Amino acid sequence: MSDKLFQFLDVPRQTPRTVPVAIRVLGYGEISGDFAAPQAGTQAERCLDCGNPYCEHACPVHNYIPDWLKLVQHGRIMEAATLMYETNPLPEICGRVCPQDRLCEGACTLEQTDFGAVTIGSVERWVTDEALRRGWRPDLSAVRETGRRVAIVGAGPAGLACADRLRRAGIAADVYDRQPEIGGLLTYGIPPFKLDKQVMRLRHELLEGMGVRFLLGREVGRDIEFGELLDDYDAVFVGTGAYTYVDGKLPGRELHGVHDALPFLIGNTERLLRDEPPPPAFDLRGRHVVVLGGGDTGMDCNRTAIRLGAASVTCVYRRDEASMPGSAREVGYSREEGVNFLFQRQPLEILGDEHGRARAVRVVETELVDDGHGRPRPRNVEGSESELRADVVIQAFGFLPSPPDWLASHGVKLASSGRIVTGAGGALPQQTSHPRIFAGGDNVRGADLVVRAVHDGREAAASIARMLAEAEAEAEAAAAV
Ligand code: FAD
Ligand code: SF4
Repeated sequence: MSDKLFQFLDVPRQTPRTVPVAIRVLGYGEISGDFAAPQAGTQAERCLDCGNPYCEHACPVHNYIPDWLKLVQHGRIMEAATLMYETNPLPEICGRVCPQDRLCEGACTLEQTDFGAVTIGSVERWVTDEALRRGWRPDLSAVRETGRRVAIVGAGPAGLACADRLRRAGIAADVYDRQPEIGGLLTYGIPPFKLDKQVMRLRHELLEGMGVRFLLGREVGRDIEFGELLDDYDAVFVGTGAYTYVDGKLPGRELHGVHDALPFLIGNTERLLRDEPPPPAFDLRGRHVVVLGGGDTGMDCNRTAIRLGAASVTCVYRRDEASMPGSAREVGYSREEGVNFLFQRQPLEILGDEHGRARAVRVVETELVDDGHGRPRPRNVEGSESELRADVVIQAFGFLPSPPDWLASHGVKLASSGRIVTGAGGALPQQTSHPRIFAGGDNVRGADLVVRAVHDGREAAASIARMLAEAEAEAEAAAAV
């Protein structure tokens, strides 16, 4: 039980201060400040310890939230960090990028009152950052090396979580990625104002310190055959993400000035990593930008366009604000930074000028029809078309799995949607239809969340460790006969 049971009556929910808007839009630094130590403790004390921790159930990795909040109340930061890491291999990252309003904080008992949820994500982030500053490192001193080796394809959150847990089980982990840096979408998709790239560099060092080997700039299927990995390693984990853009098939999408969200975001991050000015296509100074789509990717495009100097940014979404799939916090930040939202508008086509450049988006109003099948369905309202001025259009309609050809040719079963099927027909969690191939993250779920990719990587490592241990026990039993 919390030492100060009714602390929430006196202490309001307080998140760390954010950088003032006028300053934050000038650059790409993280906009969220840090808690001061006493503030993190006081916020942790707001936890009711309600007995049925809904927050833990709603957290995809089932963090021991009330337990670490209690440690923070008592200033036991290093122990809190160890407990966080017990369930979450990437806590400092989830503390930054999880849509907490839809996960742990959305389920907090206090959220159902006027008092507002405990600031779980900000505490998780602060504790991990602070513990790392004080020298906290994963403790592998009790690990016994098994001599087993696993190849991981993809250094996104799924692959990194898998590598971390394999090393903790004494299994060698070699991580292959086609990119020159680790992180997958953490590095190349999510903009630095949400996740500073220094955070990923530190995680890179920590994982190498644990003995994880990164083989970067190597694309499996091009630079190395998948079959070689199967031959050389005891098992393979595939965490290759989801990179096929949903195509809205809008007439005019071939015009100059029309971008797909991911190349736009990746291109901007890459040039920031190289410390280069924006190329001409990304110089949005004085230009009117329309972003199509209301998810987290759309919010990242909105806020990147603002930082690239756009004269105006309008985000068009076909449903209402309450139905938006992204985090309410990110919508709020977009709005604070000057983005206009246009709800219940369906884009119909992108119109061009005589030079083949985008000049407007034609949209139609929608009404929402509740046909009893989940979210209300938008229906176009006849005769309500209008044009929005747009020199630049960014399409952020979402992503589908992009399974590499070599999976099916090695007998890995795919669903018709292209997702990798795992855990079917008595298989272990995250095990595919091939007994030595495991998978997780967006390539199994479709485009989803970092914390769910982390969950899958963690569970895959547990399944691999179990499979290898069982195989060893069987071999020993056979040898003894
Ligand atoms: P990825 O992160 O995509 O990593 C896959 C890795 O595999 C990549 O590094 C890729 O280079 C590598 N790879 C692929 N094929 C090969 C191959 N053949 N050989 C070698 N390497 C290969 N989620 C949140 O929780 N919060 C957010 O705020 C958020 N914002 C987002 C913003 C954007 C713009 C996008 C696109 C996504 C966002 N997401 C967010 C979703 C989140 O980033 C993903 O769900 C998560 O990264 C999936 O992790 P993953 O490990 O499955 O795949
Ligand atoms: Fe909340 Fe995400 Fe942390 Fe879980 S991992 S406690 S959902 S911020």
